[in-house]
Amino acid sequence: MASSKRFINVRRPEVMAQVREDVQRYRSELVDRISEDGGVLELPGLHLRLASAFGFCDGVKRAIEIAYATCRMFPDRRIWLIGEIIHNPEVNARLDEMGLRHLPWRLDAPEYAELQPEDVVIMPAFGVTIPMRRLLDEKGVSLVDSTCGNVIKVWQRVKTYAAAGITSIIHGKARHEESLATASQSRGEEEKGNFLVVFDEADAELVADYIRGRGHKETFLEHFAGACSPGFDPDVHLRTIGIANQTTMLKSETAHIQEMLKAAVLERDGNDDRFHMFDTICGATQDRQNALFELLQEPLDLMLIIGGYNSSNTTHLAHIAARKVPTFFVKSADCLESLSCVRCFDLQQKKEVVQPLPEAVSDVAYTLRVGVTAGASCPANVIEDVICRLIELRNCLEL
Ligand code: SF4
Repeated sequence: MASSKRFINVRRPEVMAQVREDVQRYRSELVDRISEDGGVLELPGLHLRLASAFGFCDGVKRAIEIAYATCRMFPDRRIWLIGEIIHNPEVNARLDEMGLRHLPWRLDAPEYAELQPEDVVIMPAFGVTIPMRRLLDEKGVSLVDSTCGNVIKVWQRVKTYAAAGITSIIHGKARHEESLATASQSRGEEEKGNFLVVFDEADAELVADYIRGRGHKETFLEHFAGACSPGFDPDVHLRTIGIANQTTMLKSETAHIQEMLKAAVLERDGNDDRFHMFDTICGATQDRQNALFELLQEPLDLMLIIGGYNSSNTTHLAHIAARKVPTFFVKSADCLESLSCVRCFDLQQKKEVVQPLPEAVSDVAYTLRVGVTAGASCPANVIEDVICRLIELRNCLEL
């Protein structure tokens, strides 16, 4: 892609000094103290354990700082953000208050027609698609890029696949911004590369079956409609495949999908020369998943997973915990309505529901054992609010 002359570096020392003060709001002394104390908070009636890796990753911190720096640097210009800077409602609401406007992830959206050359557009941590970037270049707007370096590494991988005529099999969510951007990169500037997005092991099984010659083309294409490159022909485009993934997927699932597809290619060809793979799950996602597995070794009555409901990495944390212990995926402190019920995201129904809490929660004579973690887009102040709400409900400080 030709580099835009309109890219602006907003992370200048004089701006960043102010921004570091702005983002103090996302810190928490309480959370820092719990971490320093080995991740344990002991109060009468409450034994709380915080995962050893949780909350904001470096890519998210950087994206937020860039958004704040852009507002500081251009107080008199219209600033647009493509989609959400990250998937966290508190952070996004604050940026909205600061006057940021939103460009939807649909190029035919009327907002794009409003863009003027003096406008500033922030590209989010997930990156943007090549057609979006091209349109922004045509509009002549100033661009501020907050794309995470780990996402760019995935792009480099799928571009390498495309250059070698390899179809990218992307383990991710077809409608997630990051996968949309990665899929676009796998097409390339010329839009000649091919991709297929597989969401889970069931999707991978269909692909593996097709590779083994057991699939039905129409059914296959119907199933993957909207999740593959235009003109995708499984008879042609599954001949040589390369795996990549959305950076925030479940590591163990990605590993299994790789094995499934490699085994299918091996069975078809007698060797795996036409199979390529590269683990592109980022270290921050991996650290948070590992820390949760470690935390789940402890005896716990329940787990609180904190983060935005549309956050992919947080959703995976909730899936991991739910296999082991009663788990409640909450986005903010007010979700803890009472000692008996909680508003939380239901992983099956994919919506917020009100659920009863385990009986132990309302037994204040019992020392409740609670595990806490948060996704890579969740600020520490929100984690603190949730912990304080739990303490308030359990009346721990009064006992
Ligand atoms: S989760 Fe990983 S890829 Fe996503 S912003 Fe954070 S560091 Fe970057």
